[in-house]
Amino acid sequence: MAIKRNIMLTLLREAQRRQSAMVKLLGEFVRCESPSHEKRAVDRFGRIVATQWKRRCTQVDVIAQRTHGNHLRVEWNTEASKKDGQILVLGHLDTVYPMGTIAKMPYRIANGRAWGPGTFDMKGGLVLALAAVDVLQATQAGTRKRVIFLWTSDEEIGSESSRRMIESEARKSDAVLVLEPSFGTDGRLKTQRKGVGDAEIIVTGKSAHAGIEPEKGVNAVHELALQIERLIKMNDLKRGITVQATVVRGGTTTNVVPDEARAFVDLRFSKSEDSARIQRKLRNLHPILKGVRVKLRIGSMQPSLERSAGVRGLFQVAQSLMRDMGYPLGEAATGGGSDGNFTAALGVPTLDGLGTVGGGAHSPEEHIVIQKLPVRAALIAGLLASL
Ligand SMILES: [Zn+2]
Repeated sequence: MAIKRNIMLTLLREAQRRQSAMVKLLGEFVRCESPSHEKRAVDRFGRIVATQWKRRCTQVDVIAQRTHGNHLRVEWNTEASKKDGQILVLGHLDTVYPMGTIAKMPYRIANGRAWGPGTFDMKGGLVLALAAVDVLQATQAGTRKRVIFLWTSDEEIGSESSRRMIESEARKSDAVLVLEPSFGTDGRLKTQRKGVGDAEIIVTGKSAHAGIEPEKGVNAVHELALQIERLIKMNDLKRGITVQATVVRGGTTTNVVPDEARAFVDLRFSKSEDSARIQRKLRNLHPILKGVRVKLRIGSMQPSLERSAGVRGLFQVAQSLMRDMGYPLGEAATGGGSDGNFTAALGVPTLDGLGTVGGGAHSPEEHIVIQKLPVRAALIAGLLASL
C-alpha cells in the first residue's frame, strides 16, 4: 500500500532539517569504537545507541551475550496488534576496525563527505533509522505495523550469536529491511546477494630430508597443489559459483619434505541450492598422492539472497517512494553476504542496502555522502509507513 506523494515530500523536508544533527550523531557513534571481538567496546557503543532509542520512547531490550557483544532489540509501535503484522529492521553495532583505528583515521568532514571507521558499514545506517523514526513522529505519519529493530554485535564475524534471534524475528515479520551500505555512487539497493561459505583442506603427508631420502617422504604441499587444481575446476562464473583458495600454509623449512599443508577456501554461490552441490564436491576430494591424508572441514554456510517475487515487490515499493521525492532508484547484485541472506532464505521478503550512500567500506577511505542522508532517511521512513 503506497502512501501519498505529498507525504513523501513532507518526510523528506523533515529529514532535511535533521541533516546536520545526523552528521553530529554519526560522529558520536564513530568515535565510540566497536570492533566485533571486543565485547566491552561493543557493549559501550550499544549503550550509546540504546540511550538514543530510549529518548524516542521505544521499548529497548538488551540481549546479553557472554563472549560476544550484547545485541539490542528495539520495539516501536507496540500498540500494533499481532494481526497488523511486523516489519523487521536489521543493522549491526560492530565494525571490522581494531581498537585505536580512530586515532589514525579520525571522524572528519571533507568534500561533502563524513569519513571514519564504520561511517558507511554501518553506523550511518543506525543514524538513518533514528532519523526515520524522528521524521515519522514529527509528521505523525505513523506505521500500521509493529517495527522491530535488531542491532546485533557480530555481523562482521558471521553472526554466530545473533542468527537465531534474527531468524525467529524474521519468521514473525512481513518484510525485512536491512540498513547495510548501498551499492555504487547512486545508492542502489541490493536485491541479490551471493551465499557465502568457508572450508579448510588439511593435508597430512610424511616429512623426510629433501636431499638424502626424499623417497621416504610424502609431500603434503604437492598434494595440496593438486587439490587446489580441482578447486579451480569447481568455479562456474556463469552460474555464479566461485571457489577460491585464499590462505595457504605448508612446510616447515626449505630442505624438508613437508608433512602438512592447509588451505582456507572461500565459497560463493548465487543460488542457495548450489550450497549443497559445492559441499558434496568438496567432500569428494579424495587423496591423489600415495600415503597422504586429506581432511576437510566445512565452516559456516550462509544461504544466498535471491531476487524472489517478494524481494522484487519490496523494491518496487521503494522505487515508487523515491520517485515521489523526485529521485531514481536502482538495484544491484553483490557477491558479499549480510544478515539479509538468512531472512531471505526463510522466504521473508528482504530489501538490503537501505543504508547510507558512500564508499570505501572496510578501508581507510570509508565515508558517506552527507547530502544523501535525508533522502535515505525519508525512504526508510516511507517504507515503515507504507508497508
Ligand atoms: Zn555491514
